[in-house]
Amino acid sequence: MAVLSRVSAVDKKKLLPKLSIQSVTELKGVGPAVADKLAHLGIDSVQDLLFHLPLRYEDRTQRTALGSLRSGQEALVAGQIQVSGIRPGRRRSLATVIGDGTGLVTMRQFHFKRAQQENLIRGQWVQCFGQVRVGSAGFELVHPEYQLLQSGEGVKVAPTLTPVYPTTQGLGQKTWRHLTQQALEHCLDDVVELLPADLTGLEGFPGLQAALMLVHRPDPDVDATALAAGTHPAQLRLVFEELLAHQLAVVQRRIEREQSRAPVIDAPQNLWPRLREVLGFSLTSAQSRVVDEVLSTLAEPRSSLRLIQGDVGCGKTVIAAAAALAAVEAGYQAVIMAPTELLAEQHLNNFERWLKHVDVPLAWLTGRLTAAERRVACQRLATGEAMVGVGTHALFQTDVTYHDLGLVIIDEQHRFGVHQRLALRDKRRVDDEVPHQLVMTATPIPRSLTMALYADMDVSLIDELPPGRQVIETVVVPNLRRAEVQERVHKACVAGRRVYWVCALIEESDVLAAEAATDRARMLREALPELRVGLVHGRSLASEKEAVMRKFRSGEIDLLVATTVIEVGVDVPEASLIVIENAERMGLAQLHQLRGRVGRSAERAACVLMYQPPLSQMAHERLSTLRKTSDGLSIAEKDLALRGPGELFGTRQSGLPQYRLANIGRHQLLLPAVQQAAADVQARFPDQVAPVMRRWLPCASVLSGV
Ligand code: ADP
Ligand code: MG
Repeated sequence: MAVLSRVSAVDKKKLLPKLSIQSVTELKGVGPAVADKLAHLGIDSVQDLLFHLPLRYEDRTQRTALGSLRSGQEALVAGQIQVSGIRPGRRRSLATVIGDGTGLVTMRQFHFKRAQQENLIRGQWVQCFGQVRVGSAGFELVHPEYQLLQSGEGVKVAPTLTPVYPTTQGLGQKTWRHLTQQALEHCLDDVVELLPADLTGLEGFPGLQAALMLVHRPDPDVDATALAAGTHPAQLRLVFEELLAHQLAVVQRRIEREQSRAPVIDAPQNLWPRLREVLGFSLTSAQSRVVDEVLSTLAEPRSSLRLIQGDVGCGKTVIAAAAALAAVEAGYQAVIMAPTELLAEQHLNNFERWLKHVDVPLAWLTGRLTAAERRVACQRLATGEAMVGVGTHALFQTDVTYHDLGLVIIDEQHRFGVHQRLALRDKRRVDDEVPHQLVMTATPIPRSLTMALYADMDVSLIDELPPGRQVIETVVVPNLRRAEVQERVHKACVAGRRVYWVCALIEESDVLAAEAATDRARMLREALPELRVGLVHGRSLASEKEAVMRKFRSGEIDLLVATTVIEVGVDVPEASLIVIENAERMGLAQLHQLRGRVGRSAERAACVLMYQPPLSQMAHERLSTLRKTSDGLSIAEKDLALRGPGELFGTRQSGLPQYRLANIGRHQLLLPAVQQAAADVQARFPDQVAPVMRRWLPCASVLSGV
């Protein structure tokens, strides 16, 4: 094979078999700086490089005639320079027109050196690769990679498709190709099959080495459509193993967790039934079922971890109260932790009221208490004088101790890391016992994913809203009609309602989003001078943000301009209108979360989704799904089908595994087979579990969890 030709057989022998496990620093071109960058990506050994897989491919295997270029296409072209010169303009550029007899194209460079300019002269032959776009005078290639051709020299085409690797600042694609080339040459033979050949699900896939070879250096005649879609059998072989590794890790976490004991908390006979009587509403049947599910796990002597999943407003808090009271009645403390001061305060309001009815003492612990207040709160938790703790991250600081903690409840769990959850779990002082854990989330997870992603937890679903909730009227309008929207906002505020105005992120940048929101607030203040307008964004100080939110809640602010920071959990029942700008750029699930900020009372609520035309087909479908559907779960399922899980859960907040190659949206069809294969490997080849996990997972996620 061509890739092996550069190394003589002797060299190869010398290098084998150790190179695979040797440090990348053994490779040519890897000094300390590059090694450091690779280490940040989790690449230490040469073999690790083989499992760093391309994101996409470029086709430089054939030359495209200039006459047949299409806009948007990436193409390798060649031609003779017709004219080259500097074009003045808003951005000065060097424009070089080349022709090949079938057509013309302009190479445009905004950054160029004098030497380049001097080489690009009329009559010179040149080949270049880049993306075709429509410029001022026909097709252009902006900053293509190019190379000058000697007269009579043929166009140089690549022997395989060119991989493009995920990378980090300062590591160029040429480096990646050079490094993976060496790894393929020296250690592909060393990569061992870890999976039994007869494993169900693997049928029809190529072997591991062949799959790696193909994925790093696809032949020109490969099925490029499948490759681009991530569904080529070679990719599926690797994806299967990666998903399997994650599945094994999840199952492993459950096994490890269940080895710990937890206090037995029997179903409460007194406190919870008393509270239930005075709630002022009766539980929905979904809530009752979930309370039963929660109580049954608490009664087990094994350490439990249960996820309560339920759309915004379905009433998860009261379930937390039932669980907390069960713990208290059994003689154990319970804590409930929220990701922000604001959400914690909401819980405080509820729990103070509820616990008073049943005479259960509570402690409030956040980062904003004075030293004296904090001392008192800690003291009460340490002695057991307070049986329930409500607060934020402050609840698990190292110096906070508990008298006898039996239950940890975490709201909006995706906002916390596993480590934070574990820090709180470790607060139980009794030897070899841990508290039960209950985590709650409003992020809907499609059913098809729940089993695979949360196999380490028991999952309860509240699939019903309390009666009498209004469907939120959702309208979609182009930006052009902003004046109309403002008028609607004005009317609502004058009628005493409260309104959110959300400026969505145009790019994933706090700074830009904050600027956009600040500008919008200024504009709305000018346009609607009689309204009291507040502003919160990701760069507001926490104290400032809370002050503004408090005013909005109490009605001292009518119109709250915000970035997506208000997305999760905020409960201001008087808000009945939300305007979301640039809705076309946002994921369905996120829009659904935002929309859930209104419609939290019996009052009619509305959501105005503004967009900048023209709408892409995809964006059109997203917005109309939202207009027609109010159920979070079906929206999540639709979102998964339309896009990937990254967008579905919001990139960083998801708490979902970071895959190298797998894409849960694209590859969900593999999940049932992966689950079965995981059970099979566990049962028949338990020794393979650790090596498979080690190959695919960063060490942290192998160790975390429990
Ligand atoms: P979430 O699940 O989003 O955390 P909450 O627990 O904040 O929802 O509940 C939303 C609102 O619905 C609260 O005001 C709560 O008191 C109310 N609520 C909860 N359960 C019921 C019910 N069964 N009937 C009527 N109202 C309910
Ligand atoms: Mg909530």
